[in-house]
Amino acid sequence: MSAVLSFASTGSGKDDVDDADEDEKAEEEEEEEERAFAGEDGRVSDWEEGGSGDEGGWPPAWSLFEARAFPEGPAAALAHDAAEHGFDLRALARRGGWGFYDAVRAVNFVRSEVAAGRRPREADFGAAGGGGGGGAAAGWRDDAHLAPFRPDDELLFSLEELLGLEDLQEGDEAGGAGGAGGAGDAGARVRQLESENAALMQQLEAARETLGALVAGGDEQEGGSEGERRRRRREKIDRGYFQSYSGFGIHREMLADNARTCSYRTGLEGSPSLLRGSAVLDVGCGTGVLSLFAARAGARKVYAVDGSAEIAEVARDNVERNGFAGAVEVIQGRMEGVALPEKVDVIVSEWMGYCLLYESMLQSVLHARDRFLKPGGAVLPDVATMWVAGIAPGALGLDFWRDVHGLDMSAVAEREERTSRGTSRVASVKPGDVVTTSQRFLRLDLCTCTEADLSFTADFDLTCPSRHRPAACSGLALWFDTEFSARFCGQPVNLTTSPFAQETHWVQTLLFLNETVFLQGEGGEAGAGAGPGAGAGESAASRAAVALGSARRPARGLRGSLQVTQGKQDHRALEVVLQYAPYSGEERGPAGVVRYEI
Ligand code: SAH
Repeated sequence: MSAVLSFASTGSGKDDVDDADEDEKAEEEEEEEERAFAGEDGRVSDWEEGGSGDEGGWPPAWSLFEARAFPEGPAAALAHDAAEHGFDLRALARRGGWGFYDAVRAVNFVRSEVAAGRRPREADFGAAGGGGGGGAAAGWRDDAHLAPFRPDDELLFSLEELLGLEDLQEGDEAGGAGGAGGAGDAGARVRQLESENAALMQQLEAARETLGALVAGGDEQEGGSEGERRRRRREKIDRGYFQSYSGFGIHREMLADNARTCSYRTGLEGSPSLLRGSAVLDVGCGTGVLSLFAARAGARKVYAVDGSAEIAEVARDNVERNGFAGAVEVIQGRMEGVALPEKVDVIVSEWMGYCLLYESMLQSVLHARDRFLKPGGAVLPDVATMWVAGIAPGALGLDFWRDVHGLDMSAVAEREERTSRGTSRVASVKPGDVVTTSQRFLRLDLCTCTEADLSFTADFDLTCPSRHRPAACSGLALWFDTEFSARFCGQPVNLTTSPFAQETHWVQTLLFLNETVFLQGEGGEAGAGAGPGAGAGESAASRAAVALGSARRPARGLRGSLQVTQGKQDHRALEVVLQYAPYSGEERGPAGVVRYEI
């Protein structure tokens, strides 16, 4: 997938693991902080306090009729609309015998009408099940109004509780909506509604827990047990996550990434013997591009699933306009809650985030694989690897400051170099800034790996090819490859995000060390005082007093380990603990440990 989420790019612990406790404390304080999810370009790089200082509470709910937010929550917004605008949604739902989807349609409909300068009235809504009440609101039952009009509409997440719709009958809803959908594949329509229902139920479950916690705890800010708070935070992160995929900019960026899109196209369309007549599941279909590639390659049936309502609608249109409505069925809903009528021969997904595992979408793919893939079926891509190499301080782009319209601004470069220490960022590394060997430190077979494999510790040992002069190494670059291997694909292809290959929108993930380490290759003067200031007559004793890996005593290589785990506060983020030390032969230089949140 993509650069979707906000990227919190600072390393949070600078020195050693003993600092981990402090970090934990700091995290506790930040506990209710939430991700500011990306806008259209998906590159927001910041955290955002909960709205109106309401840490851990719900964001404010908006009136249906005014640009006014109610920090107290959706109930207050509805009460206001009833009192001030004579529009009592609760009473309407009760009188009309509405189901949940009726209420969702009504809310989105009112918001769209108000935005268009109209003012719907209660009388416009008529009775439920009668195909709408005529007048200004005759179109309110249209399924188009199932999509949130406001992307951040808290009201929608609370409707079931607010309107007392717990006794919603699944059949009532499917029947009502199916009627609006008209002719077509009734089974597909029901499955689609079941999926939507499952996704909405997940959201409602979280909303119910939150409300329950608020009542039980009597504390609006904290609300309930640790487990409930965690679930609530998780759900909120997920909502923001799917919301971040509702804009078009992020999809355009992915589609325009030629290395990415061409690899998938070749993997699918270059494998007609795999695809012809097959059933395919596209986990996270977005615009539907991979489903359409699969259909073009001859798939009999493609189930295209996406948890972002807006983009699933777009996928449906794309499928229709390209003439594949018979083969591709778009299902809006989170993969984990979707039911399929059959097992599939192929699962395709573009799930990769920064540093491969950021976004934690691979977990959803593995879950789908275990539920829906036939034994021996193909997962495309089928192999993922992660790579590491040492990088020069130049990877920060510091040269820029040396000559700014003829002015020396290297003071900024020095500061930036200092402040980057112990932090991480996502950036493009030029091949010339890679100063060590590259090493693969993870290989995942996506047909067999499990969720447990996604948290791991891996060792690395990087050496410096440069013999003639010491190379400054101020950090590590991480990148990944995903392969459509010959195991399944007629035309095997490797999608690489290496700094030595065509740039992708994932670029590389940079982890800066606590200090610059100097390295020099075999055959050079490494470890023997070759750096500046190492006089020819210097004794072994005085050399030993100079730290290995310093400019005066470059080391042969850098050794260490990378521990990668899912974020504790944000399950879609990553935590990386890097341990490292320069070495020459048996001698080890000063060690460092840095903890990064990605
Ligand atoms: N396949 C498309 C989009 C990839 S981006 C392409 O290649 O261009 C990833 C998409 O997966 C997003 O649209 C996101 O909404 C969706 N997604 C992520 N996790 C999901 C899940 N658990 N269930 C359903 N959709 C999911």
